[in-house]
Amino acid sequence: MLKLQNVSTYYDKIQAIKNVDIAVEEGTVVTILGANGAGKTTTMNTIAGLLKPKEGSIHYLGEDVTGLRPDQLLRKGLALVPEGRGILSSMTVMDNLEMGAYHRNDSEVGADLEKVMKRFPILKERKSQLGGTLSGGQQQMLAIARVIMSRPKLLLLDEPSMGLAPLIVADIFKIIKEISEAGTTVLLVEQNARQALKVADYGYVLETGRVVASGNAKELLQDDTIQKAYLGH
Ligand code: ATP
Repeated sequence: MLKLQNVSTYYDKIQAIKNVDIAVEEGTVVTILGANGAGKTTTMNTIAGLLKPKEGSIHYLGEDVTGLRPDQLLRKGLALVPEGRGILSSMTVMDNLEMGAYHRNDSEVGADLEKVMKRFPILKERKSQLGGTLSGGQQQMLAIARVIMSRPKLLLLDEPSMGLAPLIVADIFKIIKEISEAGTTVLLVEQNARQALKVADYGYVLETGRVVASGNAKELLQDDTIQKAYLGH
């Protein structure tokens, strides 16, 4: 579904990711692990069109999408929930959700809103409240609910559990599983490597901008080197 070949992205002269090859099969959950500064966010932002790669190509659903803008990719079903969530603080919960579907012109937006409100009762309760007044966990729920409103085929989640209390983190991983089971393919960046590998089918490890390991998520969970570096063993 998604294929990065030899992708390198720079900030001016600083090369943040180097010759990255990543593939995501339709219907799977794939996770990218790595320490702070390894290049995870750069990789996600490059896929989502927020950064342009200097070298390499990105194919999505069989099409070369290298260099397309985020809004063009969103229309094709490739959506990002960025690190830090990116909800609109000065708009209400309901307006945020409706914004998620702004590019849709089908007749099912209303029905999807109902579904999302049912899945996230806290958002229904607070639908008239401004986004910025929600707690961190609620804002992350809103960010995910909003992106669901865009009906993504491939959903990119950058550190969805960052800064959240353990109970809410568990909830976020449950939601990721549900999203996947409902048929959306997921690419997930997480500091929380153990939980990410538990929910994922496949994983990649980035170190200083390069892919240094990849494999079946279950195998990565058992791998000595991965355990020592990322799983706190
Ligand atoms: P984190 O867990 O902190 O988000 P990360 O793995 O997502 O880390 P990136 O944010 O992609 O890593 O950063 C990769 C490299 O690019 C780092 O060396 C970082 O310092 C550098 N970098 C990131 N953003 C910029 C920027 N806007 N300008 C210059 N260098 C940057």
